[in-house]
Amino acid sequence: MPDVRTDILVIGSGIAGLMYAIKVAAVGTVALVTKKEAMDSSTNLAQGGIASVFAPDDSFGLHIDDTLASGDGLCNRDVVERVVVEGPDRIHELMEMGVRFNLQQQAAYGHGDAEHFDLGREGGHSQNRIVHSKDMTGQEVERVLVEQARRHPRITLFENHMAIDLITQSTRMKRGMITTTHEDFCCGAYVLERGTNQVKTFAAKVTLLATGGAGKVYLYTSNPDIATGDGVAMAYRAGATVANMEFVQFHPTCLYHPAAKNFLISEAVRGEGGVLMDAAGKPFMAAYDPQKDLACRDVVARAIDTELKKSGADSVFLDISHAESRFIRKRFPNIYAKCLELGIDMSKEPIPVVPAAHYMCGGVVTDIHGRTDIQNLFAVGETGCTGLHGANRLASNSLLEALVYATAAALHTIDALQADNFSPLMKPTPWDDTGTTNSDEMIMVTHNWDEIRRLMWNYVGIVRSDKRLARAQRRIEIILAEIEEYYWNFKVVPDLIELRNIAVVAELIIKCALHRKESRGLHYTLEYPRRDDSRWSKDTILRRPFVG
Ligand SMILES: Cc1cc2nc3c(=O)[nH]c(=O)nc-3n(C[C@H](O)[C@H](O)[C@H](O)COP(=O)(O)OP(=O)(O)OC[C@H]3O[C@@H](n4cnc5c(N)ncnc54)[C@H](O)[C@@H]3O)c2cc1C
Repeated sequence: MPDVRTDILVIGSGIAGLMYAIKVAAVGTVALVTKKEAMDSSTNLAQGGIASVFAPDDSFGLHIDDTLASGDGLCNRDVVERVVVEGPDRIHELMEMGVRFNLQQQAAYGHGDAEHFDLGREGGHSQNRIVHSKDMTGQEVERVLVEQARRHPRITLFENHMAIDLITQSTRMKRGMITTTHEDFCCGAYVLERGTNQVKTFAAKVTLLATGGAGKVYLYTSNPDIATGDGVAMAYRAGATVANMEFVQFHPTCLYHPAAKNFLISEAVRGEGGVLMDAAGKPFMAAYDPQKDLACRDVVARAIDTELKKSGADSVFLDISHAESRFIRKRFPNIYAKCLELGIDMSKEPIPVVPAAHYMCGGVVTDIHGRTDIQNLFAVGETGCTGLHGANRLASNSLLEALVYATAAALHTIDALQADNFSPLMKPTPWDDTGTTNSDEMIMVTHNWDEIRRLMWNYVGIVRSDKRLARAQRRIEIILAEIEEYYWNFKVVPDLIELRNIAVVAELIIKCALHRKESRGLHYTLEYPRRDDSRWSKDTILRRPFVG
């Protein structure tokens, strides 16, 4: 007997998982598992906001054009149009749920005319279109969605429950692998309860992967600790198609300070007039792009990388001290407070910044309903690859995409459940850890965590080359073999589960990067510095070979 039986299993409590859960709970029971506390997510850290068309001089056409330009020839135009056009409805829906966005000329925050949003500007956007809640938009959205999910009588929230692997119809636990037929359907997941270290079997008619991104694959990242690419790794192991993993977005401006872990200095600071400069106080972006400091993120990140390599300095600087102090404190209360806590007064001095891994444009391939190619398995949010971002995500399009696709997946799930179109609940293969013991060699886990993150930063970072990528591939193959051997001999613990996942994701990024012999969007490689539409105007698709 499974430990938990539910109509719908949702893995992840960021914007994607929560929005989907709240909607599908209208027709069925929902088990929502999340590996730490409910609020632990990238969503909770999102500062800038959600891109959508509200300004009188803006249009869907302009937002579509900006998204396509950023995606550098790889966006799916139908998907872009759909996401952009649905944006205003999804924003209104959030407001109806209780999310408070900043409105123009209002000291207090509250509900008001949508047309009067205080719209921010970010790199790559030709218009002001970032709907925001101060500089803590994600936290405000997450607060409201978590509250609603907790209150819902049909949603059971399992905090500190970490999904280990998906269970498919043909899951067979074999030493070293979980096998799949590739014509499979998903019937739940194995989940580790932290604290008791018990592995539970969750059986579900429908499963949603909403586990977010994978920034922790890199040494420097803006992402929270939960971002270990678990959803992509689980889906890939189960036989789902994964795409475009070479397109890792590096945010140009993370705070550089020994006491600051993963703290982002929002692009909105540059949107409000912040200027990047070197250690001598000389602005440098004009030498790299006509849009200067508001060029697309990949351009800015590469420019900073070049400046750092040229000068050997530890960081560059972002200066907004020319703006009025009162404005800075009001517009960026969170960033201002964090910097001040570390002894940097951004209203008087420049902020030291470095680039860091920020967003995964690739992921588990889905259709317009958020369905993967494994039946009854959906993937939404940063885990999914819908075709919206192409080779580079336009700033603040990701929360928007998560909202639109969580809604699409929910509508499809509701229809299918009501029509009773899903396969009946299967009896999942029980978790089998006979013969395993408690680990006596945790050093293998900590060592390999560190090695993977350094390897990815040094060899598979902002600027790549064939030689570095080949070196990374050789190393990751050895590490993967070590991890698999260890994994099947010892009882699973959270660090081991995450290590296994970052190793898989690292391998997928390296494979995709080695495959693409051109530079496009976020993938920049020394041997092939130009975009080559004659050969590479296509997604990079990966699927695990069938091991029956
Ligand atoms: C610092 C920062 C600032 C950002 N700013 C913006 C912005 O202004 N605008 C914008 O559009 N985007 C922004 N982004 C990107 C955006 O926040 C994310 O892409 C988006 O929030 C992802 O939502 P999600 O629901 O897919 O994943 P997340 O919000 O990351 O949620 C993932 C959830 O899955 C859970 N989970 C993971 N693995 C497991 C597992 N094995 N078992 C159980 N649970 C698991 C996690 O605990 C978490 O609850 C920002 C990102 C960061 C890091």
